[in-house]
Amino acid sequence: MTPPCTGYQVDMVGQRSRGAAGTVKRAGGAKAADGAGGAGGAGGAKARDKLERYHAKRDFNKTSEPSGRPRRRRGASRYAVQLHDARRLHYDVRLEVEGVLASWAVPKGPSFDPGDKRLAVRTEDHPLDYASYEGVIPAGEHGAGPVIVWDTGIYRNLTEHRGAPVPVEEAIGRGHVAVWLEGEKLRGGWAFTRIRGGDRRRAGDASAGAAPAGDASGGPSGEGVGDVWLMVKMRDETADPRQVPVRDRPASVRTGRTLEQLAAPAGPSRRPA
Ligand code: MN
Repeated sequence: MTPPCTGYQVDMVGQRSRGAAGTVKRAGGAKAADGAGGAGGAGGAKARDKLERYHAKRDFNKTSEPSGRPRRRRGASRYAVQLHDARRLHYDVRLEVEGVLASWAVPKGPSFDPGDKRLAVRTEDHPLDYASYEGVIPAGEHGAGPVIVWDTGIYRNLTEHRGAPVPVEEAIGRGHVAVWLEGEKLRGGWAFTRIRGGDRRRAGDASAGAAPAGDASGGPSGEGVGDVWLMVKMRDETADPRQVPVRDRPASVRTGRTLEQLAAPAGPSRRPA
């Protein structure tokens, strides 16, 4: 099988070879060791930290969002895509990775057209329970506005580097992850590729003058938040530019409600100003 994301992999290799090869390797090695998890329970401690940022941003006496903790589970990995009308309408694409949901905000949502490069900005990891969350985040709270579960299902990791499989967490750290989504609206391969932000940490490693000494994005749980990625449909048998679920299938796969119905349950289309 031809890896449909070869172009991105070449990009990634290009980036890696630009820095001092030794330091890049060291960073990769450290990530892989963390990913192995089991050793001495360190994986658990790290997983807990992953949601620090999520919890810090929210007051769970006010928001109806889940306050869950990292939770590793067996079985197929889940994904969810939520439609969220906050300051800007966007889709939140979330992949279960090592006990949490790694997340990207994608303003235009996923496309079945391999020619579309969808902007995807990394956001903080979310608890697994968030995958089924629907509700209205109250005014004044982080992300105020309605959220529906636009799609959900399971996924398989397709990421390879030089022919060898790469675990999802490591792939995200490296800036390229390819997944096969198996949901109700989405089915097929999509690739996520970081185009801006990852070099902040690599630059720190290589002690390039401009790099901040601390973590600019706010501690271990904030690693990578704000990085700019692209989400692109892979060229496989499911690619089909005529299929436009973000246009044709707006309702929740959980409750059948649209964002508008959730935001204004009492009235048909008008709300008092
Ligand atoms: Mn959001």
